[in-house]
Amino acid sequence: MSQPRIKHYLINEKYEDPGIVIEIPQLGEYVLFDVGNIHRLDRELIKKITKVFITHTHMDHFIGFDTLLRYKLGRPHTVEFFGINPLAENVYAKLQGYTWNLVEFEPQLIFRVKQISGELFETYEFDIKKKFAKDFISEEKIKDNVIYENKFYRVRFAVLDHKINVLGYSFEFKNKLLLKKEKVEALPLRGREVGEFKTFLEDQNNRGRTLRIGEKLYLYEDLFQDYAYIQKGTKISYITDVVYSPENREKIVNLVRDSDYLYCESVFLERDREQAEKVYHLTTKQTAEIANSANVKHLIVFHFSRRYGKNKEIVMNEIRKLFPDVS
Ligand SMILES: [Zn+2]
Ligand SMILES: [Zn+2]
Repeated sequence: MSQPRIKHYLINEKYEDPGIVIEIPQLGEYVLFDVGNIHRLDRELIKKITKVFITHTHMDHFIGFDTLLRYKLGRPHTVEFFGINPLAENVYAKLQGYTWNLVEFEPQLIFRVKQISGELFETYEFDIKKKFAKDFISEEKIKDNVIYENKFYRVRFAVLDHKINVLGYSFEFKNKLLLKKEKVEALPLRGREVGEFKTFLEDQNNRGRTLRIGEKLYLYEDLFQDYAYIQKGTKISYITDVVYSPENREKIVNLVRDSDYLYCESVFLERDREQAEKVYHLTTKQTAEIANSANVKHLIVFHFSRRYGKNKEIVMNEIRKLFPDVS
């Protein structure tokens, strides 16, 4: 299978609550980054959400939890949440805002929360059958900056400063090795052997080793060059609610480097830079500077300040001059 097809977009208008959706139907994955007001999303889509990555729990990023909860009731399902302490406590408080005395016959709905807490990942579960009690499941030491990974993609994070800790995220499909079909067909390989040939090439530990095909021995490097190529995985990053400090800037640029798509807040015009600093947000110029430094291909901006009303163009025009490939 080549890279699964994906669709990604902002949940709301640029001057409304932040958040994006990534749909990967082939994998049955429907992923949210932040869950502010989600009333614009189709109810059927909300029912299918499998994972939610939360930057922080300021209201505009978390108030949609109730909507999600409501549409998730009624079928057996586990929804995974990712974020940073105190996310688990916030999820628990949300769930305890309701009375759950008639749930014996409800299908089993579970919220699983994996949160960063100091040097650790902590995992908690909230099971409807236990009236959403907070169950500690496990903890592990954080080794690298990957908060979730499967066969197809990984999600990296950076801990950023917004006067509280917030997470920035990068969703990366893994690079894929593909075979040059016509060339491989000319080799004396039958059935399963093609799969084994591919597996040999996929494992970079085989560098310097040889493989026998028919009568001949071939060097890994030669086979790789002649019979395979790499399809680069799409990288989508999501950064919001951060102050423009040297530390934040460096961490963000490292995380989002070479993104195909960078979703990044751009809350204020440059003339309102003092206000941006005060409330720990970015200006147009700062957002463009990050996108340029990180060699981003396409920038999507959002979280425009209410002070500009519905006048999106005033912000877009300013940023377009500094980073043309913006929408
Ligand atoms: Zn915030
Ligand atoms: Zn916000």
